[in-house]
Amino acid sequence: PLALLQDPSLFKTDALIDGEWIKGAARFDVHDPSTGARLADVANLGPKEAEQAIAAANAAWPAWRSKTGKERSIILRKWFDLLIANQEDLGRLMTAEQGKPFAEAKGEVAYGASFVEWFAEEAKRVNGETLPQFDNNRRLVVIRQPIGVCAAITPWNFPLAMITRKVAPALAAGCPVVIKPAELTPLTALAAAELGARAGIPAGVLNVLTADSANSIAVGKVFCASDTVRHISFTGSTEVGRILMAQSAPTVKKLSLELGGNAPFLVFDDADVDSAVEGAIASKYRNAGQTCVCANRIYVQEGVHDLFVEKFAAKVKAMKVGNGFDDGVVQGPLIERAAVEKVERHVRDAVAKGARVVVGGRKLQGQFFEPTVVSGATGDMLCAREETFGPLAPIFKFKTEQEAVAAANNTEFGLASYFYSRDVGRILRVSEALECGMVGINVGGFGTEHVPFGGVKQSGLGREGAHQGMDEYLEIKYLCIGDV
Ligand code: ADP
Repeated sequence: PLALLQDPSLFKTDALIDGEWIKGAARFDVHDPSTGARLADVANLGPKEAEQAIAAANAAWPAWRSKTGKERSIILRKWFDLLIANQEDLGRLMTAEQGKPFAEAKGEVAYGASFVEWFAEEAKRVNGETLPQFDNNRRLVVIRQPIGVCAAITPWNFPLAMITRKVAPALAAGCPVVIKPAELTPLTALAAAELGARAGIPAGVLNVLTADSANSIAVGKVFCASDTVRHISFTGSTEVGRILMAQSAPTVKKLSLELGGNAPFLVFDDADVDSAVEGAIASKYRNAGQTCVCANRIYVQEGVHDLFVEKFAAKVKAMKVGNGFDDGVVQGPLIERAAVEKVERHVRDAVAKGARVVVGGRKLQGQFFEPTVVSGATGDMLCAREETFGPLAPIFKFKTEQEAVAAANNTEFGLASYFYSRDVGRILRVSEALECGMVGINVGGFGTEHVPFGGVKQSGLGREGAHQGMDEYLEIKYLCIGDV
């Protein structure tokens, strides 16, 4: 697939530090999850290069922060234009290394680029405040300044958007960044960085440190221990988020964490069942179920339960699974074998505890798994407690609103929730009662660049996107000015 790139120079396999492409002493392989084929070998850098990248970022910081917001905005806008102009090639790299259907990959390029567009605009709006004085010969002013060198550690499920959602606000605010992309999907990240360099992002302001899984752990330690790195933004598992938080305690680093979810999806008796089915398909099976906001548990009230299961199962049965480059494919492979095994384990456990497989349930060849629906799910099953991160939809039957909300909140996670109802009172009550950062009401998806994305409880800290996304990268300084 990569032979078909319109611009072959976007196929980058070296790391980017201080404007130089670094080969590194060692390399690691990147594979196509659909075919198992080796796509590339990429620079495998470690702690020494992490220190170099941090130093380069720090050296580039003063010039970057002293540009005006408008100057930074112009560069970011150019980067946005280049990302869009190269949407096909970026999509191609993404489908090849990540597996998602090509149309979905191109959709992610547009979504990823939209953060760059949005924060290019926000770069011009880092406003301060003046406060009323408490004494007539003083003036009180609040300014906001870039926090400093930022590190971003990103996952494989959105190889572009999870980078731009962090990098764009950091750059807009006047901060340099060192990115450590997921080892499974570094090619999209490197191509995006190349386009950033073409857009005029100066050397050292945007660095991409590629590393395999062992080196990623080592690099993570360097980021956390560094006094120069003032902020770490991480998207990934709650488990790794906890490690980064603990490792960051000695340097009291500011953290933005976007961690695991276990999204409930509630369908009440007063719902429009057809829309609920559409929403559940969109929320559950996007990216083969590998998003942190995918519906993980579907609770359906008894009055519409059987109708919902029937309609939902019929749609799931019709989904085409295969290589993301093939026509009509709506579900690609899972990212790695361990992911396939986890879905299998969840299905087996559910069946052993009394659930019934309505559609699918089996592993296919390679890293593919059938889109699966099980009914009769209960709270003691693994799929109720853990994020499956795959194409399994467990359906739980409930009687009362109270019971459904209690079950929905019975998790340490709190990222996204969804529910379908047409009762205004219920919409208000349930929206307020759900313990989470984002609620989709009568919709199965809500992602866009100008809304605050993030979670509560063990789903993380901070918000990405929207004007709140800039706050993560800005420090507040209070000036008390005497009138002498
Ligand atoms: P996922 O469940 O999405 O694979 P992980 O949390 O394992 O999520 O990985 C997300 C990102 O975190 C990847 O870039 C990975 O290399 C990185 N990572 C994994 N373990 C660590 C660690 N101990 N320290 C720093 N980064 C890590």
